[in-house]
Amino acid sequence: MRQLETLQFDNTYARLPEAFYRRVMPSPLPSPHLVSFNPDAAALIDLDPDEAKRPEFPRCFGGDLLPTGADPVAMLYYGHQFGVYAGQLGDGRAILLGEVRNRAGEKWDLHLKGAGATPFSRDGDGRAVLRSCIREYLCGEAMHGLGIPTTRSLCITAGEERVVRETVETGAMLLRMAPTHVRFGSFEAFYYRRQHDHVALLTEYVIGQFFPHLMNDGDKYPRFFGEVAERTARLLAQWQAVGFAHGVMNSDNMSILGLTLDYGPFGFLDEYNPAFICNHSDHQGRYAFHHQPDIGYFNLRCLAQALSPFLTQAEAQAGLDRYEAAFAARYEALMRDKLGLREARPEDQALIADWLGLMEAGRADYTNVFRALGDFKQATDAKNDSLRDHFLDREAFDAWALRYKERLRAEDSRNEERKARMDRVNPRYVLRNYLAQAAIEQATQHKDYAEIDRLRELLRDPFTERPGMEAYAAPPPDWGRQIIVSCSS
Ligand code: AMP
Ligand code: MG
Repeated sequence: MRQLETLQFDNTYARLPEAFYRRVMPSPLPSPHLVSFNPDAAALIDLDPDEAKRPEFPRCFGGDLLPTGADPVAMLYYGHQFGVYAGQLGDGRAILLGEVRNRAGEKWDLHLKGAGATPFSRDGDGRAVLRSCIREYLCGEAMHGLGIPTTRSLCITAGEERVVRETVETGAMLLRMAPTHVRFGSFEAFYYRRQHDHVALLTEYVIGQFFPHLMNDGDKYPRFFGEVAERTARLLAQWQAVGFAHGVMNSDNMSILGLTLDYGPFGFLDEYNPAFICNHSDHQGRYAFHHQPDIGYFNLRCLAQALSPFLTQAEAQAGLDRYEAAFAARYEALMRDKLGLREARPEDQALIADWLGLMEAGRADYTNVFRALGDFKQATDAKNDSLRDHFLDREAFDAWALRYKERLRAEDSRNEERKARMDRVNPRYVLRNYLAQAAIEQATQHKDYAEIDRLRELLRDPFTERPGMEAYAAPPPDWGRQIIVSCSS
């Protein structure tokens, strides 16, 4: 039986030498059914959404049937976990079914997470649980809606399989998509195996596919490293600006394309606390929100090490310096946008830092208070009471508001025009943990998947106020503050 034969596969990764992967078939979930289907992701691979209604569809993405043209492999990678070299890590539970080339010529990996044990599974069962699949599925779409580079997801399939984590959970699979799932750790694999020719081959492959302008460049390795550093810097700047904590920034979770990759115990900031730790397993706070930019640097050093047979020390350092400069510039630009400032002025850094200081002291809701700042009125006598009410220290707010008013007038800002701009960068809705949790509970307890689709629909455009959806912008209720998310997924 031919499956999803409209998909045009072009399995470039599986044409690399065998050392890059192991051929492996998915282990099917018993009695698979479709939990959610994402038409936006389907459009990326020219897949007719009606295909999802066919009975074979959940079997295809539940590991039972293969799409015609698939050539499943588990990709090899190593990595540094929590700052420590960890050797061979993966891929222990995701199988690259193949790569689809769409009519526009773009290539998308179809990556089935939770597809069962692979030769890299170590002691793991190769499975994923429905809870984690829902989190990853929704957050990828939420990040995309926020304009942040990310993997996407086509669908979730669940089956009649119990998977043991801290409790017994429902087994599921996520069909994840990205132009490639190659990560920093893919390069580390061959460096630590002392297969430097394979480091070169992988670099040539990635450059050929995704950085073609570097193909004939005499300095292609340092240029490549510099561009990866730049992309990573821009990604981290976006995370910091939107208040996203990844939770497990191990080098094997760092995309070579600068995409947000591997959504585990992530969290969006509710109250602004720069030291926020979203990952319950992160006892030292290594991946605390405010450490993320430094961890990005650390991971780039891991990548530089892997590329060291082809990079001088000075070239590696130049790439790392580029990371720091690009992060600082990008972050400041994003924060200026969030404050509605059009021009760059010397006093902006202090204005931004003091605003964040106010938010921290007032435990202000990061998303909502930035959104509320859009309603700021710059007239000298404007009190801005509703914004002011978010802060305990009203005098400190008033002092800051005075400076902000002066700064706005200095660039001839206008209330309405500024608000329109700010509402396009300060989201109304983010995937707060408690929102995801409500969808998870309905799904796992009642097999009711409506909330997943409702959230996906809401978060694909998080900047537009939706009448009747005010509750989705609310800070977490008490129960929602207690949710524990860890690496166990
Ligand atoms: P993560 O911290 O989720 O990125 O996981 C690190 C690596 O551990 C992954 O790349 C997987 O290869 C492996 N892994 C995680 N969970 C499992 C599992 N249940 N079975 C097999 N391998 C796993
Ligand atoms: Mg991972």
